[in-house]
Amino acid sequence: MSAQLISGNSLAATIREQIASRAAELTALGHQPGLAVVLVGEDPASQVYVRNKVAACQKAGFKSDMHRLPADSTQATLLALIEQLNNDTTIHGILVQLPLPAHMDSHAVIEAIAADKDVDGFHVSNAGLLMTGKPLFRPCTPYGVMKMLELTGVPLRGAEAVVIGASNIVGKPQAMMLLQEGATVTLCNSKTRDLKAHCQRADILVVAVGRPNMITGDMIKPGAVIIDVGINRLPDGTLCGDVDFESASQVAGWITPVPGGVGPMTITMLLQNTIEAVERTIANH
Ligand code: NAD
Repeated sequence: MSAQLISGNSLAATIREQIASRAAELTALGHQPGLAVVLVGEDPASQVYVRNKVAACQKAGFKSDMHRLPADSTQATLLALIEQLNNDTTIHGILVQLPLPAHMDSHAVIEAIAADKDVDGFHVSNAGLLMTGKPLFRPCTPYGVMKMLELTGVPLRGAEAVVIGASNIVGKPQAMMLLQEGATVTLCNSKTRDLKAHCQRADILVVAVGRPNMITGDMIKPGAVIIDVGINRLPDGTLCGDVDFESASQVAGWITPVPGGVGPMTITMLLQNTIEAVERTIANH
């Protein structure tokens, strides 16, 4: 391997230490950061995500409220809970774990969260603020990727940045954040012709598709920064990313591992967004 490893585990640990000490200061001032996590149903993966988020909050000294609703709850019940949390001054961030059961309208549910408590950054007003260059909350995964890029010291201004995958939660906001830093951004999707040609031009390549090992070393520009957002479970139970680490790490300048890369940064940025929410609450009063 010639590439330098960008360890999400170690960057996340450093940022979480800073967050914990800021949380202690805020708590001493009577503003303990509070995050409410809402889980509807018993989806096993969602239960793990939610448990990890609550544990990370507690470790950082946040107040962390967990709200579980049965899978057959009505949307009205969920909306009433969100309304209650919107009005709770001890709660600065509200996270509704997705996906929601099929009978619920996820869009309507996310829109019901007060935009200034939308720590996931999924509310249309937060998407719009990001798009217009005045972000309030940045979606956690791409925000974490920006921190990883910052760590490399590789300049983003004028760089060719290619993002593969154009979802609302990762690819699109990622493209906006890179654009805001002055990169020339190409956003690829499943219809993109000649993906390899786009990848080979990239100084910065962010891959968020969900297809095991789809990006191989021959698709990468020598020295490029490769950020692998994908998390895929192989038939033997092991986890891998969207990038073929073995071949890519021979060519890249910097690369993130899976696991231990972008994953730990996502929860870290959720904590960061909650701290930012508290700071704004204090500033506005
Ligand atoms: P998604 O399914 O919503 O979107 C996938 C995107 O990839 C779509 O825009 C689609 O057009 C594009 N795509 C599909 N096939 C393609 C191809 N052959 N070439 C180019 N583009 C293609 O996925 P998502 O929610 O954005 O997640 C993507 C991956 O990132 C998944 O593996 C997910 O598990 C992972 N993820 C990880 C984290 C983390 O914290 N590390 C967070 C969110 C998502």
